[in-house]
Amino acid sequence: MKRIVILGSTGSIGKSTLDVVARFPDRFKVVGLTAGRNTGLLTEQIRQFHPEIVAVSDEKSYRALRDSPALRATSATVPEIRFGVDGICSTASMPGADIVISAIVGAAGLLPTFAAIKAVKTVGIANKETLVMAGALALSEARLHGTTLLPVDSEHSAIFQCMHGYEKASVEKIILTASGGPFIGKTAEELETVSPGSALKHPNWSMGQKISIDSATLMNKGLEVIEAYYLFGLPIGKIDVLVHPQSIIHSIIEFTDGSYMAQLSQPDMKGPIAYALSYPARLCSVLKPLSWETLPGLTFQRPDTATFPCLSFAYEALKKGGTLPAVLNASNEIAVRAFLDGIIGFNKIPVIIEKVMASHLMQPAGDIAAILEADNWAREEAIRMLNFKC
Ligand code: NAD
Ligand code: MG
Repeated sequence: MKRIVILGSTGSIGKSTLDVVARFPDRFKVVGLTAGRNTGLLTEQIRQFHPEIVAVSDEKSYRALRDSPALRATSATVPEIRFGVDGICSTASMPGADIVISAIVGAAGLLPTFAAIKAVKTVGIANKETLVMAGALALSEARLHGTTLLPVDSEHSAIFQCMHGYEKASVEKIILTASGGPFIGKTAEELETVSPGSALKHPNWSMGQKISIDSATLMNKGLEVIEAYYLFGLPIGKIDVLVHPQSIIHSIIEFTDGSYMAQLSQPDMKGPIAYALSYPARLCSVLKPLSWETLPGLTFQRPDTATFPCLSFAYEALKKGGTLPAVLNASNEIAVRAFLDGIIGFNKIPVIIEKVMASHLMQPAGDIAAILEADNWAREEAIRMLNFKC
């Protein structure tokens, strides 16, 4: 029986993780859940999965949860409730948990993921922002403590699955596939007027708001290039991206001998989540089978980085290193929020990120404090630019 903590249980990945857990009650037991402010859904999850500890992001949500009539009415033991960054970090590192699924969105996932790494939990990483901001530190902490990091992101899970049994030296390159998002093929002029609602409508995946916008700008693929760099330890030149609008091939390895291995399945995050939970075993019937005869043609094209420059910004941040990837991430978070709130148009997202990156005085990303300082600086800088209508 694996004992599981889910960070971000009320989000898209968190809910899919609980779907997998619910199907295999003889294999998995939820012992800890953390969420932001959605205490209603968290209460339902507590009633269904009976965790020992739960944590929410702030004191108001803590009180709402503690006083919730629905929670008091439950016949099961009420879990211990914690709050704030400390409460979430201590849940991530709770004794007795075997595996932590790190699925908080954005930089808020950084400290809890580090807490899980330091507490030597196996960490299933969905929160790619942790690796973007602090990939080298996360890896050195994992090495120091002997912690296993498993990918949950579908592309990285695909590469991880294909890499099984092969030496890194036999990999010529890895090709991360990208759906291209809802605006594939649109011109910059057409993108001027797209609404947040249309940007949130991803053609193949159902995801949280932030990653949906990141998919539409191609920033998600940029963040994934950085994530792959750390997870697989390959040089930047060996990490490529191809747009594959059908999202059936989740990524590809090209080997030195000219052969390729790819992982295919329905686009459903329950697949990579289940693989991380059960690794190295595989569970039964997690995904609907592919209907091979009726599959649409599988097509591939180069990403249009002139219209969607965020992907190039991520390569640039990774090449320059230091605190720049953290600045890329933080300015993106602010710009995406401003777009969702109707403050800026879609095309202003890369404009803000580029300007913040250009004005950053890079520092070595030697410790968490330096990274958080850069994150904070970039947020303030991005907000300042929003105020000046950049
Ligand atoms: P989401 O917005 O649906 O859920 C985010 C979760 O984090 C929620 O439970 C929310 O309450 C919690 N949260 C938000 N802010 C918080 C804070 N300040 N403190 C504590 N908790 C907070 O996001 P998602 O789509 O599930 O994505 C989660 C992570 O997984 C992201 O890093 C994303 O890039 C990655 N990911 C998602 C998918 C997907 O299909 N959704 C696929 C691959 C990777
Ligand atoms: Mg992905």
